[in-house]
Amino acid sequence: MANTVLVVEDEANLLAALSYNLGREGYEVLTAENGEAGLALARQHDPDLVILDVMLPILDGFEVCRELRKDSAVPILMLTAKGEEIDRVVGLELGADDYVTKPFSTRELMARVRNMLRRTAHVSRVAHDASEIIVSGDLVIDNASHSVKRDGEPLALRPREFSLLSLLAANKGRAFSREQILERLWSMDYIGDSRTVDVHVRWLREKIEPEPANPQRIVTIRSIGYRFDG
Ligand code: CA
Repeated sequence: MANTVLVVEDEANLLAALSYNLGREGYEVLTAENGEAGLALARQHDPDLVILDVMLPILDGFEVCRELRKDSAVPILMLTAKGEEIDRVVGLELGADDYVTKPFSTRELMARVRNMLRRTAHVSRVAHDASEIIVSGDLVIDNASHSVKRDGEPLALRPREFSLLSLLAANKGRAFSREQILERLWSMDYIGDSRTVDVHVRWLREKIEPEPANPQRIVTIRSIGYRFDG
């Protein structure tokens, strides 16, 4: 089945070009010219990937991204102009998966889209292969419903936090480098941004560790990365 890609871009020429090229690659394409319409389409159609311009009328790309992330793990590729936008896009709290700086070549963008979709397929396959339910102490990780309970209470984890926990817990006792984690859970090309992993580990620890400052479950392996100990 064809993957559906939603493109939210207010420059009509660019939107038409993207739409044409994605269609030619075999994707189903949805388009919106402002943030509000884009958000509505995303919620209505649940696309496999969203290409999101930063500067948009009504709601800008940052706001759309933040809204989407409240309830969706859909891969988001941001289109940025140069400069300070990039800092915000790779900013850790926003939740975009990757970005391309304008002007970009069609070829580069298509390669990025393919990579992101392949990665998503890979991550969901990994999750699928893992045990459906992992129990560790008072933690119950349910890969089928993407939910985690601690001592019977549901935890509100962001999609990435869940993926991170699921990956580490499914491989208890095995150390992962930050790069390995980035490669599994994020798009590539996050050069020099392994801090992203640290921040997610910190967030996760606040939710699953009895003493987040003295973690026992997700331990730091000096000069390597992280390991789930139980
Ligand atoms: Ca724009």
